[in-house]
Order: sequence, then structure tokens, then C-alpha cells
Amino acid sequence: MLTSGQLAQRCHTSIRTVQYYDQKGLLHAKRTPSNRRAYDEKDLLRLQQIITYRKLGFKLKDIQRLIENKQTAHVLSSLIDKQTNLLQQQLHQTKSQLEGLKYLKKQLNSMDNFSTKLQEEVLSSMNMTKELHHLRLKLVVWGLIVDILLWGSLIYVVYQGTSIWWFILGFIFSLIICGKITYSYYQHSLYLCPHCHSEFVPLFREWILAVHTPNMKKLTCPHCQQKNFCIEEYR
Ligand SMILES: [Zn+2]
Repeated sequence: MLTSGQLAQRCHTSIRTVQYYDQKGLLHAKRTPSNRRAYDEKDLLRLQQIITYRKLGFKLKDIQRLIENKQTAHVLSSLIDKQTNLLQQQLHQTKSQLEGLKYLKKQLNSMDNFSTKLQEEVLSSMNMTKELHHLRLKLVVWGLIVDILLWGSLIYVVYQGTSIWWFILGFIFSLIICGKITYSYYQHSLYLCPHCHSEFVPLFREWILAVHTPNMKKLTCPHCQQKNFCIEEYR
């Protein structure tokens, strides 16, 4: 059996941390006859798992689910996805803050004092992330409307035995909405080249065919001619 101190030492952490996880119900200490906490090898393994998950940024309640759940692979996979999304959002936020700082520095070099206008510009460049988020949300909602329209008209035709033209009409409307939302997304996006740090708007044809991730698209920068994954921004 191990004492709190020995367990902490084996996991390169503090006694306070061990006690904290114990209080939170993540570790289950046994009691010695003298009423001191005692841990076995299973607890050691458990604490190592907790520390690893903590380093990956998981919340305590998620860690609890991970180590208690028998179907760990499935739970872990969905929690990893959740954590990846969260970190990507944070990364994007950090990048836009860095852009704000870079812009501020550039302006300071050419200006003597820190004008109100400048502050506004820096803030607006950081707020772009929020606007981009709203835009994406709007697209998701419109996407749902298209789905309902398309499936609704199909179900209507199949179950009511009405004319196929209702479905064709639904299909045409869906196409129009899809076209409109795609173009509206294009009109509001701007890309930052990671190579020369300039911002640009790609041609629609290149934009629509480009490989992409949730926050980036693989585009050719018109300034340095390099093809890279470029960070999406709001314009
Ligand atoms: Zn470039």
C-alpha cells in the first residue's frame, strides 16, 4: 500500500493534488487502522490516467466518465472530438488575438500616440471571430431549412401520392437557397496567408473547390503565390 505522499511522488505530483482528486471522488483511498489514507497499484494507474487526461485539457467530470466507463474507447473517441473542437476554437481565438497584436505593433511603429480609432480597429479585428461564428451558425440553420424542404417535399410526394412536381419544386428551391448561402459565406470570408501574412479574397472558383478544415482552406496566396492552408476570417 502507498501513502498519499508516496503516491504523489510516484506520479510526480503534489500531495495536495492527490487529496483534491480524492475529495472529488476520482480516487478512492482505503483507510489504514490509524485512519490514514492508503492507495494500491490500481490507484497509481488511475492517478497516472487522470494526470494524462488533465494534461490534454479534459475537465474533471469528463475524466470521471472516462475512467469509470467500461466502453472507454467509444466515450474516449467522442470526448477527444469534443476536446479537439474546443482547442481548435481556442487556437483560432489566439490566432486572431495575435493578429490584433501584430496589427497594433505595425500601427504603433508609424504613429506617435495610441489613438481611439486605432483601438477600435484592433477590437474590430478581434471581434471578427465572433461574427464568423454567427455567420456559420446562420449557415447551419439555413442548411436545416433546406433539408426540411427537400425531405418534406419528397415525403409529401411519396405518401400523399401527389404530383412529382412538388418534389422538383422543393428541389429547385433548395438549390436556390444552397447557392445563396454558399455565395453569402464566400462574400463574408477573407483569408490570411500563413507565409506572407497578407489577407486576400480568393476567386470564387478556387474557393468553392478548395480542400478545407473547419477554420482553414487550402488556397494560393495572390501576393506570394504560395499554396497553403489559410486561416479564415470575417469581412
Ligand atoms: Zn502569401
